[in-house]
Parts: sequence; C-alpha cells; structure tokens
Amino acid sequence: MDWDGFAHWSKHISDWGANYHKSLRDRPVRAQTAHGAIAAQLPVSPPEGAETMDAIMADFETIVMPGMTHWQHPRFFAYFPANAAPPSMLAEMLVTTVAAQCMLWQTSPAATEVEGVMVDWLRQALGLADGFTGVIQDSASSATLSAVLTMRERATGYTGNRDGLSDKGQLRIYCSDQVHSSIDRACWVAGIGQANLVKIPTNGPRYAMDVAALQAAITADRAAGHTPAGIIAITGGTGIGACDVLGPILEIARQEDLYTHLDAAWAGAAMICPEFRADFWADVDGFDSIVFNPHKWLGAQFDCSVQFLKDPAPQLNTLKIEPEYLRTTGESVTNYSEWTIPLGRRFRALKIWFLIRSYGLEGLRTRIRNHVAWAGELCEVIRAKEGFEIVTEPILSLFSFRCPGDDATQQRLVDALNDDGRIYVTQGAFQGRKIIRFQVGQFDTTRDDVVMAGAVIGEVWSKMK
Ligand SMILES: *Cc1c(COP(=O)(O)O)cnc(C)c1O
Repeated sequence: MDWDGFAHWSKHISDWGANYHKSLRDRPVRAQTAHGAIAAQLPVSPPEGAETMDAIMADFETIVMPGMTHWQHPRFFAYFPANAAPPSMLAEMLVTTVAAQCMLWQTSPAATEVEGVMVDWLRQALGLADGFTGVIQDSASSATLSAVLTMRERATGYTGNRDGLSDKGQLRIYCSDQVHSSIDRACWVAGIGQANLVKIPTNGPRYAMDVAALQAAITADRAAGHTPAGIIAITGGTGIGACDVLGPILEIARQEDLYTHLDAAWAGAAMICPEFRADFWADVDGFDSIVFNPHKWLGAQFDCSVQFLKDPAPQLNTLKIEPEYLRTTGESVTNYSEWTIPLGRRFRALKIWFLIRSYGLEGLRTRIRNHVAWAGELCEVIRAKEGFEIVTEPILSLFSFRCPGDDATQQRLVDALNDDGRIYVTQGAFQGRKIIRFQVGQFDTTRDDVVMAGAVIGEVWSKMK
C-alpha cells in the first residue's frame, strides 16, 4: 500500500465508523453467532500473494462484523462499560499513525510530558491531594500487579528480585472477599500465592471489609511468624460494586507499616463528581497506590489505566532496571518504562487530552450523574415487577436483581435477554445465589434506552415463564 492508498482507505474507514456508530441501536448488542462460525469462514493458510484492500474490507464486513459484540451500543448494560468517546478514537488514530514507542523520555519527549500533565489533570479531576504522581498503564491488572510486587519487595527489604523468594517465609496480603480476580492473579504471578491472599469478610450496606477481622487476621499472622506485606482495598467491586470504608483500613496499615493499594478501576471515574467523594472516597489520600481506568466509565478508548502513586520510589525500587542500551545521557528525566512491567509503551495520554478538552470535566460529569440517576429509576421499575427481587441496591450505577425462580431460571432469563438482542446483561453470584447484574454507563446511553431495558426485561420474562 502506498500513502495515497492509505489516505483513501483512512477516509473510507472513518466514514464507515461514523455510519457504524449511528446504526448501533438497530444491531443486536451481543453477537448472535455460534461458536466456531467465524473461524470456519477464514482460509486455513495465509495467502502467498497480495490481496486488495477492497477484498479485505469486504471480508471484514461480511465475516468479522457479524461476530462482534457491540460494546459501544447504547443498550450495553453488561460487565462494566469500555467507552470510546469519538475524540479519544481520533487521538488513537493519531497515536497509531505516528506509531512511536514511548518507553523513555528521549524516545518521544512529548509523550512523557503530556502523560505527566494528564496524570495531574486526572488527579485534580478526582480531587486527590497534591503530591500524587502517577503513570498510565494498559490495564488495572498491570497496575495492581505493580503494586503487589512493590508490597513484596518493600516487605523483604528489596531483596526478592535479587535473591528470589525461597527464604522469605509467607508474605501475606489482605483484601476483602469482594475484590476482582486481578488481585488473585497478581498474587499468583508475584510469587505470593493464593493461600497467602487473606480474604476478609464484608458487611454493611456497601459490603465493606470488616476491619476488626482485618486486624485480627494480621495479628494472628504475625503470631504465626508470617510477614504481612500490604492491604488492597476496593471502591466499586466488579460483582456488586462493594466499597470499603477507607479510613479505618488506612489506620491499621499505618500502625502495621503495610503498603496500601486501592482498586477503583470502575468507580474511580465517578469521583470526578465531587458529590460522590464524601460518601465513597473519604480518606482516599492516605493510599500509597490507587488505580482507576479512564477506559471504563470515563470514555477514553481502551486501553488506558492510571495508577496514582503517593511516592513513586518504592515502585521504582521494585521495577526499575537500566541495561546499557536503555541508558540516556543528560539531565534527570522521567522514563515511565521504569515505573511499569512492560518496557514498550504506547502514547496513551493523548486520548485523555483529547477527551477532557472535547467535553470538559462538566460534560463528563453530566453523563455519569445521568447514569447513576437512570440506574436508580430502573431499579425501582424492576422492584415493582411481580415476584422480582432487588438483591443488591444501587451502588453508583450498578445493582443486581433476581426474577422469580431458581438459579437456573436466572441464567435462562439472562440468555433469553441476550438472544433477544435489544439489551445485553450478565449474570453474577452473590452470597451463593445467581444474580442478574445491571449497570448503566455506556457513553451514548439515553434515558429512553434505560427505560426500554425495563420494558424488554418484562416482555422477555413474560414470554419465557
Ligand atoms: C475492570 C476491573 C478490573 C480489571 O481491569 P483491567 O483494566 O481489565 O485489568 C479490576 N478491578 C475492578 C474493580 C474492575 O472493575
């Protein structure tokens, strides 16, 4: 392909993209294809000769698109959103086109410097204290793994990387029983082990970690000769939106000298609205590390995860490595690849810049406030349906419910709704029972879309029972 061909196809694809987004409401949200149906349409071996873009694009439309689930569909109510506001897509096109590898300041000074400023814009937007710095990672899973490795190294006097873990005894990390599976996997990968991730029971209306049980677990572990290394708290758990009460956890961490990490991957975006902070984020400034994903509710094209750090030194002491070929001369500059596990880095900050400038914080807040309000309205509609039960009350824009019947019936309703295609929801588990999760958060969702979801749930249920 020459650059004239590139210009031609870029225009074609951006027109295609606008039409795609405008037609989303007419498409089923979840892909309606059978397992293996897409792979069966692809040649088993690669072509020896060149093919035309016309042929490639035609196959993209006829083979690939029918097998896509539409995450940008305004009636996507499953999982959590992965919003991609149009200005953030445009920024991604520029990043893809310039295609720089931004591992060091020197390998693209603008990428590093825009990232530093964007992390600080987001810090201010979320109301975090002065002094937090941070880094943009690909995913919350990577940020949490970085924090867990930092807990491990800090608790072993920074000797784990050098000597291995065989003489380190049992390092212990504490979290509630409502955390995301990325915390378990971080502990596996860091060599801590699932058995040393202590899950504390939750209680209260927001399913917060029981702090008395946390203290008791730490005390018992010390008595048993184990080494407590850190605490991971959560604001907005994936299952039902669980939120820890942060102050008492931080107080225990301070007394026990433990490193602290807060997973706010989804709910962090809502903290751009000051009215939610007192309720959900009191004392947040005490954490050593905080992760939130602008690629979820905020609207920055996937992937984009911000990790705020009160002091980057412990994480740098854990992850920084500087072989000769990465050494740069001159003044002391920030090389963000020293803050993270991968060396290579994309220029993710550009989409934050485009996003925030295009909507202003106020435009982004309006969406989140609407989503929270509409989720609350729909919750009441479902509560009023005969035999339906609200299992967990709305936490921000997430609640869960059950239709009349056993666990198998819940799954049948979820499947029937997703086969119908007008909305997309996912199941979850809570206190041993299957639940149907519902969250409002897609960037283009309107109140009508949420109202329609209530009608579709009633209609599909009455056909099913
Ligand atoms: C989505 C989510 C994660 C994982 O995020 P990735 O960026 O996909 O790794 C972790 N924790 C919570 C609470 C989440 O909602």
